[in-house]
Amino acid sequence: MTDQPTLRLLSLGAGIQSTTLALLSAAGNLPKLDGAIFSDTGWEPAAVYQHLDRLEAAVLQPAGIPLYRVSTGRIQDDVLDPDKQRSLPAHTASKWYEKRDPTERQACPEDCGWTEFGGNINDDDAPEECRTCKGEGYVVTKWGPPYKTRDLGMLNRRCTQTYKLTPIMRQTRLLLGATTSDPTPCRYCDGTGRRIAPWRAKLDDHTTGPCSVCNGTGTLTRVGQPPKGVWAEQWVGFSTDEISRVSDRANTRYARAIHPLLDLHMSRTQCEAYLKSRGWTSVEKSACIGCPFHGNTEWRRMRDNDPESWQQAVAFDKAYRTGPGLRHQRFLHISRLPLDQAPIDRIRPSEWKQDDFFDAAYDAELAEQGDPDGCSPYACRSGQPTTDAA
Ligand code: SF4
Ligand SMILES: [Zn+2]
Ligand SMILES: [Zn+2]
Repeated sequence: MTDQPTLRLLSLGAGIQSTTLALLSAAGNLPKLDGAIFSDTGWEPAAVYQHLDRLEAAVLQPAGIPLYRVSTGRIQDDVLDPDKQRSLPAHTASKWYEKRDPTERQACPEDCGWTEFGGNINDDDAPEECRTCKGEGYVVTKWGPPYKTRDLGMLNRRCTQTYKLTPIMRQTRLLLGATTSDPTPCRYCDGTGRRIAPWRAKLDDHTTGPCSVCNGTGTLTRVGQPPKGVWAEQWVGFSTDEISRVSDRANTRYARAIHPLLDLHMSRTQCEAYLKSRGWTSVEKSACIGCPFHGNTEWRRMRDNDPESWQQAVAFDKAYRTGPGLRHQRFLHISRLPLDQAPIDRIRPSEWKQDDFFDAAYDAELAEQGDPDGCSPYACRSGQPTTDAA
C-alpha cells in the first residue's frame, strides 16, 4: 500500500455518527470524500430513507460526493424464503419440558476410577465403560421436584456481513477499478436458475425453487480484486463511546478502516449536538425494522409512532417463528413471546421478578435499552466486529 489512499469512502449507515462524518467532510472540516456507500437491507424505517434522500440532496450532491446505494436483497423476504438459507439473529426457545435437578449424590460405588472432574485416575485412555456412573464418577441418589423449563439461545448474526459489509466491499472494489467477469452460467443450477436447495434435499423436500446462489438468474458475475497498489480509506463512524468496537479485522489489501470521530474526540452526544446546530434535529437510528436487537424503547417508539413498521415487525415475527428442520422457536423480542404480546412497556425490575411468565434469564435492563448505536457494518449489535471474507 502506498501512503496516500486512492479513494476516501464513507461507510454510511445514515445514523447519527456517519451523518456527522458526511457533514464534516462536506463542510471542509475533514478531507473531501470521494463517495459514500449506503448498504440497503431493504428493511429500514421510512424515516431512514427520507433522511438519506435529504442528506444526498442537501449535503452530498452540493459537495460533489456521490452516494452509492448498494444491496444484496431484501432481508425480510430472503429470511422467510425456504430456498435461501438466510437468518436474522433471533432469540430462540425450545419447547417447554419437565426437568428435575439432582439434590444428592454419592461417589460411584464401582471403584471404576472415573472422577467427576473428567478423566480416569487408573487409566488415561480408559473408554467410558462404567455402567453404573457412565464415566461421571458419581451417581445421583435423590432428585428434586419436577419443574417446567426450556432452553434459551440466540442465533448467530450473519446478516450484517451478508447485507451490509459484503455489498460495501464489492462497491469499494468496483470504485477502485476492479473488473467484473462476463456473466458465466451458474454451476450450482447448471445455468437453469432453478434447483433443490441442499438443505431441502436433506429434509426430503424435492421442490425446486429459484437457485439460491444466482438468485434464479442462471448466471453469475464476479467482481475481481482491484489493481495492485490502489486502496481506499473506509471511514467508519465510531464515536469515543464506542471505542471498544474498533477493530482492524475488516481491513483488506484494498481497504483500510479509519475512525475520524475518534481523532476529533467526538462522542455520540457531541455528534448529536453538532447535527442539531446544522439543522438536523431528529436523525433516526438506522436498523432493520425487525431487528431482534431492538430494546423496548425502540419497540415502543415503533408501536406508538410508526404503526406501519410495527405491523410489519409483528407479522414477520409470527412468520419467522418456525422453519424447516428447526427444533427451536424464533422470536424477535427477548422475552420469547410473540411481539404483539411482549412486555415492551416500561416495568420496574421488581415487577419482572413477580411474574413467572418470564424466564429468569430475562434481563430487564437489556430488554429496555437494546443497542443504542444502530447497526454498523463494522460492528453490529452483538458487539462482535464483522469481518469481510470477500
Ligand atoms: S439491523 Fe439487525 S437485522 Fe438488520 S442487519 Fe443489523 S443485526 Fe441484522
Ligand atoms: Zn463408575
Ligand atoms: Zn444458479
